[in-house]
Amino acid sequence: MKYIGAHVSAAGGVEKAVFRAFQLKATTFSFFTKNQLQWSTFPLSKINIDDFKKACIKYNFFFEKILPHSSYLINLGHPDNNLLKKSRIAFIDEIRRCDELGLRFLNFHPGSHLNKISEIDCLSRISESINIALEKTKNIIAVIENTAGQGTNVGYCFEHLSTIINKIDNQSRVGVCLDTCHLFASGYDLRTKENCKNTFNKFFDLIGLKYLKGFHLNDSKRDFNSRIDRHESLGLGKIGVLVFEWIMQNKHFFDIPMILETSNPKIWSKEIDWLKSLRK
Ligand SMILES: [Zn+2]
Ligand SMILES: [Zn+2]
Repeated sequence: MKYIGAHVSAAGGVEKAVFRAFQLKATTFSFFTKNQLQWSTFPLSKINIDDFKKACIKYNFFFEKILPHSSYLINLGHPDNNLLKKSRIAFIDEIRRCDELGLRFLNFHPGSHLNKISEIDCLSRISESINIALEKTKNIIAVIENTAGQGTNVGYCFEHLSTIINKIDNQSRVGVCLDTCHLFASGYDLRTKENCKNTFNKFFDLIGLKYLKGFHLNDSKRDFNSRIDRHESLGLGKIGVLVFEWIMQNKHFFDIPMILETSNPKIWSKEIDWLKSLRK
């Protein structure tokens, strides 16, 4: 089965995201369960939850293959204890929302040290945040996304991700989502088959396939190892098409949701068609 989709808007209610994904002929999708730029939010209503679940069933989306994305405001490695606490509360709230919607995953960016603490301290705070959140919630797997390493973001190398995971008490509830733009921007080359093999073999060695819960398929506007996070449509950026063919044809990844966050939503349905065609 192919699980391919895009990060669609949930404007007007979470249930609207499902129909938008269906219109793209997607078989999975990502979305924000709340406004990603605001801290406070209304709880999901019973009507929202029921409509979301009904829509997923009607349009044939599997709950356990949908990959919601958490708010950009949350910094689980925040150096300031008060703001760290605020992030942890918001993160727990987002996990609960995903659980209410019947989902299995929540994808999030690990955090930033803001030049106030070391990377290693920031990574410890992130592990502690995840442990606290998992203890206070159930069912949902916390899926850490690799970053481009822009600014003071941690999580730009597999060593960071494995350092975070190693300190998690319940490792059955933690996973990783690999963003191809972020990989490339943080210095993992994906432009040849040899480079794809090397990059993913490193991932398998340092983290392991069992933790891989999703992909974000994006080309990159910026250069290799630039540490700058600018997504581009597939094949129109500096990475090129090869990695997307390579991922789609790799049997290890057949059951994993693949989400486009490419820069031109107008061609998402074409990009989805193309990705599907690569698996035939
Ligand atoms: Zn992301
Ligand atoms: Zn991403």
